[in-house]
Amino acid sequence: MNDNHYDVIIVGTGAGGATLAYQLAPSGKKILVLERGNFLPREKANWNPQHVLQGAYRNAEAWYDKQGKSINTNVHYYVGGNTKFYGGALFRFRERDFEQVTHSDGVSPEWILKYRDFAPYYTQAEKLYEVHGQRGLDPTEPEQEAYPFPAITHEPHIQAIYEGLKDKNFHPFYLPLSIKLNQTNALLSACIRCDTCDGFPCFLNAKADADINCMRPAVTSSNVTLMTQAKVTCLHTSASGKEVTGVEVEVAGQQQIYKANIVVLAMGAVNSAILLLKSASDQHPNGLANSSGLVGRNYMAHKFGVVLALSTLANPTVFQKTMGFNDFYWGEQDFPYPMGSVQSLGNIHSERILASVPAFTPRWIGETIANHCVPWLLITEDLPNLNNRVSLKQEKIHLDYTPNNEKAFNRLIKRWIAALKSIDSYKSKQISIYHAEKMSIKEVAHQCGTCKFGEDPQTSVLDINCRAHDVDNLYVVDSSFFPSSTAINPSLTIMANALRVGEHLLTRLK
Ligand SMILES: Cc1cc2nc3c(=O)[nH]c(=O)nc-3n(C[C@H](O)[C@H](O)[C@H](O)COP(=O)(O)OP(=O)(O)OC[C@H]3O[C@@H](n4cnc5c(N)ncnc54)[C@H](O)[C@@H]3O)c2cc1C
Ligand code: SF4
Repeated sequence: MNDNHYDVIIVGTGAGGATLAYQLAPSGKKILVLERGNFLPREKANWNPQHVLQGAYRNAEAWYDKQGKSINTNVHYYVGGNTKFYGGALFRFRERDFEQVTHSDGVSPEWILKYRDFAPYYTQAEKLYEVHGQRGLDPTEPEQEAYPFPAITHEPHIQAIYEGLKDKNFHPFYLPLSIKLNQTNALLSACIRCDTCDGFPCFLNAKADADINCMRPAVTSSNVTLMTQAKVTCLHTSASGKEVTGVEVEVAGQQQIYKANIVVLAMGAVNSAILLLKSASDQHPNGLANSSGLVGRNYMAHKFGVVLALSTLANPTVFQKTMGFNDFYWGEQDFPYPMGSVQSLGNIHSERILASVPAFTPRWIGETIANHCVPWLLITEDLPNLNNRVSLKQEKIHLDYTPNNEKAFNRLIKRWIAALKSIDSYKSKQISIYHAEKMSIKEVAHQCGTCKFGEDPQTSVLDINCRAHDVDNLYVVDSSFFPSSTAINPSLTIMANALRVGEHLLTRLK
């Protein structure tokens, strides 16, 4: 075996790739991990809102919408992928999310595997990513053993909202979070509970992300090699087209080829699909592993909304991403269709407010708004649609996307504002106004669905083990495999699935 030949090559070090590398490392197999980015610089500016909001760490190329307009997406290419910036809300999908569900605007398809198939891997992933939470409060959460760590408590302002909602017979809960906070002993706590977490890298490496919790431990095994600034540009196949025989990589402007018995893509749902389309050949004229024509189709990215609750009462909360609310997840009596989930967002800083108002707006106005608001993130399911797709046009990434499920999304926004209004008097004669904003196509943080898994090679790209139906040694372990997006944050399911596929690969490698 020559130096460029490995047992396994993994491309990408985000939630999927790093988790798989961690799972395979103890096997002693020769593993190469290829990552186009570098380690994220650790510097004081990690926590500088202006620096981060101006996009100092955004290093993805422009993508394009269906009108050909460039989109500056919130994609990050670093060791750890987008988990370096995530809020760390690590949820399990709900049991019904794996079944066919009728929405007001269409159908969310059934998965070939069910909640019970993922449950043991969810448990492992929660341990691996140090999830803090409390079971039994969220009415939609599947029944399971306790979280590995106790819930992150609310600060008083959020606690008052939490109590108010409970008094109105709602069921708010503690967000399941992957931060290394020890609430009983500050001296033992890596996390200091700061106001620059969700959307920021952690200067203290106290976020349990894919870099810190999986990639760095994996490379302590001598059989695992991590190559950074190594961008995979093409996959080569054998004459039959049935095996990947070479992974072409651009390193410092030079093309190199690496070989492996097994190749696993974990580049994020958009980039993995793009690489397959780019790797078209005589045997795979429409793109590698694309005999179904489905590679890049069914692109989903969640319908995101932000409700800004602006009040006469100051909000002094430092770390406010602690509360979740799923009472409307499956709908309500006069709207028997799923609506989605709600969670508190990380702090909105004055810099963000000032960036979205006219330039002459005095700084104190931005600061007053930032100090008097509570931002909420609303997520409605994005339904799969063949015409919502990722494609490559003149070597550029295009997202052809038309929004759906608007009725449920609008209703969720309306009902959440009504729920908040119902407790206004609770918080001592405050006056509040509510501003709702829908996020645009450039919010691709929860991208998924571009290589869905299934039993039938005609209606899916990957098989039950996330192996390409058309190519024997090619796997995909990012969120590409999702048949539906659900209305829950995706990372824990990506991590759990990587552990599940890792178990299959360990058997295959034996
Ligand atoms: C601001 C923000 C907040 C978020 N908050 C949450 C949250 O609270 N909860 C949650 O569940 N999710 C959250 N997410 C989403 C979460 O980060 C993603 O779902 C998750 O990281 C996806 O994992 P992945 O492995 O599919 O891809 P990624 O994490 O994107 O990793 C892909 C990796 O592949 C590498 N790569 C890409 N192309 C190539 C190539 N050609 N060659 C080599 N390497 C390549 C990239 O550099 C990257 O390291 C958030 C995302 C953002 C941006
Ligand atoms: S809240 Fe904790 S984990 Fe998050 S950025 Fe601050 S110190 Fe890091």
